[in-house]
Amino acid sequence: AVIKKPIVIPDDWPGYSLELFSYPEHYHEDIDSVYIPHGVIMNRVERLARYVMDDFGDSIVVLCVLKGGYKFCVDLVEFIKVLGRNSNKYLETRVEFIRLKSYLNDQSTEELQIIGSRDLSFLRGKSVLIVEAIVDTGKTMKALLKHVETFEPKMVKVAGLLVKRVPNMAEDLTDYVGFEIPNHFVVGYALDYNEYFRDLNHICVISKIGKMKYKE
Ligand code: 5GP
Repeated sequence: AVIKKPIVIPDDWPGYSLELFSYPEHYHEDIDSVYIPHGVIMNRVERLARYVMDDFGDSIVVLCVLKGGYKFCVDLVEFIKVLGRNSNKYLETRVEFIRLKSYLNDQSTEELQIIGSRDLSFLRGKSVLIVEAIVDTGKTMKALLKHVETFEPKMVKVAGLLVKRVPNMAEDLTDYVGFEIPNHFVVGYALDYNEYFRDLNHICVISKIGKMKYKE
């Protein structure tokens, strides 16, 4: 089997200076650096799409974890379609959405709420790919996997664009990892801080000022 290593971002990676890229001007005080540029994210998502193509048969149900996972999901599914058109293996893709909430400000809270469709009976007997933007402690993913398993899918794999390097890392929960990152709170590419920063294409580290400004 192919060993699927993530891109590992080291603890001392400072990111790129903001003036080297373009980004929404209204955030200029609120982020410290461009941590992962949008172009790099896209190239990596394309590679993950290849892994998915190789591992799944002919049909797949993509379960997108909202809201943070929406960009990753859209881009991943797009790449899967492009790869299908350019090869003779077409993966029939159905996309479903689930919404979870376990964060207040930048702190993980104990309980996981599933908002929206709790009834996932359409997963029965299907090959499922859960698409999540970021796995931190892994609590959310563990709870979601447990919930998904109750509907008896044929197989379940997890794609996480980012996995945080924390004690008892959750890497074994995630079959396809884009980037392994240090334990910073990141925003952008649909990842939010109290609903801000979803309109930022790069993944960035939020600044002290940003944390204060958008605190709830
Ligand atoms: P876990 O249960 O693995 O600790 O947390 C996973 C969830 O926390 C993710 O679905 C995401 O919503 C949120 N999360 C964890 N780390 C970050 C982060 O650095 N930035 C943002 N925006 N959300 C995060």
